[in-house]
Order: sequence, then structure tokens, then C-alpha cells
Amino acid sequence: MKAGIASIRKELTGNYSGTEIDSLIFLIFEKLKGYSRTQFLLSKDEFLSDVERQEISQILARLKNHEPIQYIMGETEFYDLPFYTVPGVLIPRPETEELVQWIIQQNQIPEPTILDIGCGTGCISISLRKNIPDSTVLACDISHVCLETTRRNAERNAAEITDFEYDILDGNLEIDFPELDIIVSNPPYVCQNEKNRMEKNVLDYEPEMALFVPDSNSLLFYSAIADFARIHLKKGGRIYFEINEAFGKECKKMLQEKGFQDCHLKKDIHGKDRMICAVH
Ligand code: GLN
Repeated sequence: MKAGIASIRKELTGNYSGTEIDSLIFLIFEKLKGYSRTQFLLSKDEFLSDVERQEISQILARLKNHEPIQYIMGETEFYDLPFYTVPGVLIPRPETEELVQWIIQQNQIPEPTILDIGCGTGCISISLRKNIPDSTVLACDISHVCLETTRRNAERNAAEITDFEYDILDGNLEIDFPELDIIVSNPPYVCQNEKNRMEKNVLDYEPEMALFVPDSNSLLFYSAIADFARIHLKKGGRIYFEINEAFGKECKKMLQEKGFQDCHLKKDIHGKDRMICAVH
């Protein structure tokens, strides 16, 4: 098997960095052989069947085309939980784990009702449901493939959540709805003019609809969600957003202008404004 690893490493060199290759190789063997990290490190000259070799070469061909490993494997981990990942649905990212952690820390309150707007894989709603006891969690998205993926992930993680189709931009704010304690969203926030700083694996494979906003209206989703929150969030309820590092101040100002209080910007582990919380 070590020979197998050496040849995988050689094939991926040039396309990926050394550390990326190390973690890709582990993920490949985890998937193929069910290895834990320790089992993988201890493994020596192991037999690879023809089928396994063939599978590896198919995976390598896709990796060389810059397809994200999460789509190739069909799953990833988020907040220590497994999530199916399929094309058309944004891959969960580590910065969103930081948002989830912040919400969990601040909201160990009795039986909160939480809404996740633009749920994607369901990574936010499901990890909140699993970590805030007795919460009622609702999750909505405009995309059917996202809603279906959220449902599959909820089932996989034995998390009871309610999903429904909703377009936050369609202006229908008066829908019949339970009063909410928390609204959370990681909406599209990358401007078109930021495309040149983005990786090929994101641009070529991930859903544009989940990523981009017009340059002229970077707060499009935040401001629509804030209007929704003014109607459906309890007094004292909180709104949490993941944000574009370039628009923290604007987002804070918009929330204040719409009457939200205690607006708090929070940096991610890279020191960038990445989250905001405000109170109704
Ligand atoms: N953080 C993501 C990226 O830059 C964007 C996520 C989003 O638009 N909500 O790839």
C-alpha cells in the first residue's frame, strides 16, 4: 500500500500542496478501507484489489480536474457530524462552524425556536438542533436539491428539524409562522468582482446561487432577512449572520438602521470580520 500512496502523491503533486495531498490521501483510504487516522498511519504493505486501484484512479482523475473532494466522496464533516454533500449544494466550511459554535455558546436557553434561512446541506440547522437541547429548528431554502439534502442529513444525524421551501427575496414577509428566538443565515455574500480571488474548485463546481451577490447590492440577502426578522423574531430574539469580511461595518449599520440593537461583529480564526449578531 505504501507504494500505492507514493504513486498517488506523485500524481497529485503540482495540483495540490504537500499538506493538501496528505489529507486527500487519508480521505481516500478512509473511504475505501474505512480506516481511522491511527489505522491509516499504522498501515503498511497492504493489498489493494484491482477494484480499489480502479476506484483510486477515478478519484485521482476527478481531483486533477479540481473537483472538490467533498463532492467526490459525497460527504464531509461539520461540527463533528457527518453530512452528505452533492453538487448544487454549497460545501460546509470551517468558518461556518465558528458561527454555529458562537450561537450554541450564547443560546443555552429553554426551548428556543430557531430558523435557518438558506439551509444548503442543513449543516447549521442540524448542528444547532443536536447541540441546543429542546430546540425547535426550522430550515428553509429556495433550492429543492438543498431541501432534499437537508432532509437526508437530518435523517442521517437523527435530528428532528422542519424544512420548507421559501424565497427570502420574493417579498412575502407575512407568512404564517411561529415566533422565533433565533434567525441564522449564511446567505450568498461574494461579490462578482471578487471572483478573481476564488479557487477553481469553488468557481467550477459549487453553486453560483449560493455564493454570489451583485456588486451593486452586497447586502441584498441581509437586508431582506432583517426585514423578515422584524416581523417574525421575538422582542429580544437574536439574528446571526455569516458575512463577507469586507462588509462588516455596512452590515452592522444596516441592522442598526432597521432598529436592531447590541450589534456585535466577530472575527474568524483568521482575524477577519466573519460573523455578526444583533438583538431585536
Ligand atoms: N465563504 C464562502 C467562500 O468564500 C462563501 C459562502 C457564502 O457566500 N455564503 O467560498
